[in-house]
Amino acid sequence: MDQITSLLNTINSECRSLFGQGQVANYIPELAKIKPQQFAMAVLTVDGEIYTTGDAKTRFSIQSISKVLTLSLALQRYGESLWQRVGKEPSGTAFNSLIQLEMENGVPRNPFINAGALAVCDALQSRVSAPLHHYLETVRQLSGNSKINFNKSVSKSEFKHRFRNAAMANLMKSFNNFDNDVDAVLSNYCKYCAIEMNVVELAKTFSFLANKGVSQTTKETFISRKQNSQMNSLMFTSGLYDAAGDFAYRIGMPGKSGVGGAILAVVPERYTVVVWSPELNQYGNSVAGLHALELFAKEMEIQLF
Ligand code: GLN
Repeated sequence: MDQITSLLNTINSECRSLFGQGQVANYIPELAKIKPQQFAMAVLTVDGEIYTTGDAKTRFSIQSISKVLTLSLALQRYGESLWQRVGKEPSGTAFNSLIQLEMENGVPRNPFINAGALAVCDALQSRVSAPLHHYLETVRQLSGNSKINFNKSVSKSEFKHRFRNAAMANLMKSFNNFDNDVDAVLSNYCKYCAIEMNVVELAKTFSFLANKGVSQTTKETFISRKQNSQMNSLMFTSGLYDAAGDFAYRIGMPGKSGVGGAILAVVPERYTVVVWSPELNQYGNSVAGLHALELFAKEMEIQLF
């Protein structure tokens, strides 16, 4: 057996011993129904090799990992001017916090907390005539699977319980930092988050991050090389919300987590890594997923700095 497969199998058995230490997200009732004790991991090399372990065929809700895609689509259309709507600084607060928005005139700290992602989705909605259709087409092309879709029960459940996100969008509107109808943007945002993919499909979708902005699936430039490098920097500083510093210290890679239990991590010019396990810690990040990435970084001697 090759080195990566054997490492992934070791990680799989070690991470399963952490089951029971976290809790599945329950503030979106439909997500609370997921079977907690699952684990999967995929490593996609820039040469196109794929290594997997665990429940690698099981699809899950990508949730906040969608924020990387919506930001990429918005950057394609706005370039640098997007940063008038949203900042680039780590927040140090929870992903769904409202506190800084009021203090900072309705400009969210970064595009990876909910407020920032909502401002980005609003910007996208202003420049793309059918944003949901365009987003779905993009996911299907980047993943190489034309059947990828969002889970209707999950998106409906999140939309029904949209109170905090609606509060953020309305607060931004009061500061003239939200142009479209709040519910129209929220409805799409909930669908972007409710996309379901397995670890391999997710790694393929985000393969451009490790590959200088060029998708390994389509072989086309998705975002420019410079934007790609900036995206990795933003993921490094803000991809795990108020646990971004700990992630940078322990794992040392750009990353983006979601409350569905997945974490995407990038080793530029080498690997796109996706790990998924639904039990979360208090920051909304996968307990087993963090441990898996820590083991992977250690055993593969990944030291970006
Ligand atoms: N859809 C979720 C929300 O808006 C995404 C949060 C997350 O994955 N951290 O609350």
